[in-house]
Amino acid sequence: MKANNTASLLKDGKELNTFTRPASDMQAERDRTSFPVREMTHFFNNGKENTEFLEKLFERIQRDPAFNNKDFYDLDYKPLRQRTFEQIGRMWSYLDELGADSPLARRFLSPFGMINPSAQTRVSVHYGLFVSALRGQGTDKQYEFWKSQGCLSLNRFYGCFGMTELGHGSNVAELETTATFDRATDEFIIHTPNTAATKWWIGGAAHSSNHTVCFARLIVDGKDYGVRNFVVPLRDPESHNLLPGIAVGDIGKKMGRDGIDNGWIQFSNVRIPRTYMLMRYSQVTPEGKVIEPPLAQLTYGALINGRVAMAYDSWVWARRFLTIALRYAAVRRQFSSTEGREESKLLDYVLHQRRLIPLLAQAIGIEAAATELYRLFDEVTHHQASLDTSDRKAVSDMVDKTKELFSLSAGLKAFSTWATVDTIDECRQACGGLGYLSATGFGQGFDDWVVNCTWEGDNNVLCLSAGRSLIQSGCKVLDGKHVTGAADYLGRIKTLRGKSLASGDLRDPKVLVGAWESVAAQAVMDAAEAYKKLRARGVSDKAAFEELSIDRFNIARLHTRCFQIKALFRKIANANPSIQKVLTNVGLLFALWSIEKNGSPFLQYGFLTSDDMNKVIDLVTFYCGEVRDQVIGITDSFNISDFFLNSPIGNYDGNAYENLMDSVTERNVPGTPCPYQDAMNAFFKRTPYEQPRLDEI
Ligand SMILES: Cc1cc2nc3c(=O)[nH]c(=O)nc-3n(C[C@H](O)[C@H](O)[C@H](O)COP(=O)(O)OP(=O)(O)OC[C@H]3O[C@@H](n4cnc5c(N)ncnc54)[C@H](O)[C@@H]3O)c2cc1C
Repeated sequence: MKANNTASLLKDGKELNTFTRPASDMQAERDRTSFPVREMTHFFNNGKENTEFLEKLFERIQRDPAFNNKDFYDLDYKPLRQRTFEQIGRMWSYLDELGADSPLARRFLSPFGMINPSAQTRVSVHYGLFVSALRGQGTDKQYEFWKSQGCLSLNRFYGCFGMTELGHGSNVAELETTATFDRATDEFIIHTPNTAATKWWIGGAAHSSNHTVCFARLIVDGKDYGVRNFVVPLRDPESHNLLPGIAVGDIGKKMGRDGIDNGWIQFSNVRIPRTYMLMRYSQVTPEGKVIEPPLAQLTYGALINGRVAMAYDSWVWARRFLTIALRYAAVRRQFSSTEGREESKLLDYVLHQRRLIPLLAQAIGIEAAATELYRLFDEVTHHQASLDTSDRKAVSDMVDKTKELFSLSAGLKAFSTWATVDTIDECRQACGGLGYLSATGFGQGFDDWVVNCTWEGDNNVLCLSAGRSLIQSGCKVLDGKHVTGAADYLGRIKTLRGKSLASGDLRDPKVLVGAWESVAAQAVMDAAEAYKKLRARGVSDKAAFEELSIDRFNIARLHTRCFQIKALFRKIANANPSIQKVLTNVGLLFALWSIEKNGSPFLQYGFLTSDDMNKVIDLVTFYCGEVRDQVIGITDSFNISDFFLNSPIGNYDGNAYENLMDSVTERNVPGTPCPYQDAMNAFFKRTPYEQPRLDEI
């Protein structure tokens, strides 16, 4: 299928060679890079050691035949499930070496999602949700017990997370599965009272899991204490047969991530020992005395893990599709922007720069914020593991930190995953028709990615919850109390209110951070004041928050973006000087483009005049131009090999057309007989129907 590489076409006396030109175009773009690419790679990986660790791991994965992903986009859902499980079997050897439930394993799993996101999810459901619940919700003794049963080694053990029901997902507090305490036998009876209470969507339930952490209503002596977590065995670890009283089923094909065996579960009066209730924060004694948790959210703690991971994965996925689209833009020529000259690269069109380069800056901002979120998460998890629950002060500090983590992770998960949805689709469109070809990866990537906006907390619901906690912080400030953490700037509302750009320089990071803080703080404090007014009028807490739903959503958006911008500038301030200039341009672009996208509050609060806004718009175009020459260097510094990109139009060598032709002909061997030839023959060679004639009556 290959053309002669030296073949070219003469048009109007000029040589045209679309076939071999791309690789040299790519090299020319690469030559424009003005910073040390390796240093930038360390910046994104948060250190040289991490880069080296990941490179060794990736090299091994690429060479491992178990992870061959050439046919990944062509697999139907049943073979994909089998492939996924086989890959999990192989992944185990890596996880075992890294420490199955360790931060190193986390660094392995996230990029692994680029090969097969279903395998990443199936492993993450076990470690990130099931084991996290055992560790975070169980007492130390309980955790040790489940470890002794093999929960870390995956030997005769695979866990799933049984929270969602057919009738309730976001509203976890109203789940209907019951866990009724039987004092006589010291057991709980787990029961599904109706069809809507069927556990639904449960990843791993259909085929692979033999235990679940089941969210069920605790009922003692007829009193309903609300939802708690219980470990319920589903299958016999030896025979893998379902245990008595357990019914499970497969929920079938989904929009994406079809390698996960999502299923439903019904419990018919299933008995488990009392000690299978996870009792770190809430206990039931053998006498039936119930000790309540200090904060209801602590009961749902396992979910935070996934939210933090998704905020980070938003970066991992966005950088992959940006690499493909920007590399393609560097070699694809279409029309000529100058009369009589050769066709221009897409990357040279101002509109194309405007579409992709701000998204690149946004992805880099997402990384900086997600890395800070991971630090907070590690701190809280560490604190949680060593928490003495009899120490009131320690528990109260823990509750504050957990609230902060809940609120920050909710906003970052929602706005980062949404940003990546938009990024994948904009990158797809930026590749024209080829973006629609399954071989280039966008279709599968989009279908696999979008679920992140729904699971482990629907994005809109998370924004409402982040907005609620911002209003609560605002109320604290109004009451003269101190606010710590990411919303601490609310405490400076007196100086932030009424600020305007005046003669400030929009190219100064400090001015832009000040702008974001001023606008976000005013919006939060206005919502807090509105809440207080509603309450003073006798409106209930619930109704007041409901009335402020739109404000809650908007302040969550402004606060989250403000946090991402600050996190990026903080990270840039500590970067190696050799990469600071290009990163500062990226940071300015991110902050300015974010103002352009969220313009109305900047005008409403009078921070900017309409003339200032015009300057913002011009500066976005200016910084796109400044970053334009560096984009290939930046995508190279992401350090994603062709294997992980899995998109022939985005390969490092820039040889887009040849690579695509090779990939397509390998997956669809030319000359293969058409499988529906018989149907075509029957149609094309049909005998026309002739109406019988009736000549005489
Ligand atoms: C592929 C997949 C795998 C999953 N795996 C698991 C699993 O392993 N274990 C598990 O327990 N769960 C799992 N889930 C379930 C998932 O966590 C839920 O789907 C999610 O929490 C959303 O709940 P829901 O589907 O009930 O939506 P709903 O809560 O019914 O929401 C529907 C819509 O209503 C909106 N809405 C809801 N409440 C409000 C409100 N107060 N104000 C305004 N709008 C509102 C939401 O934004 C959403 O758009 C999985 C889901 C998927 C898609």
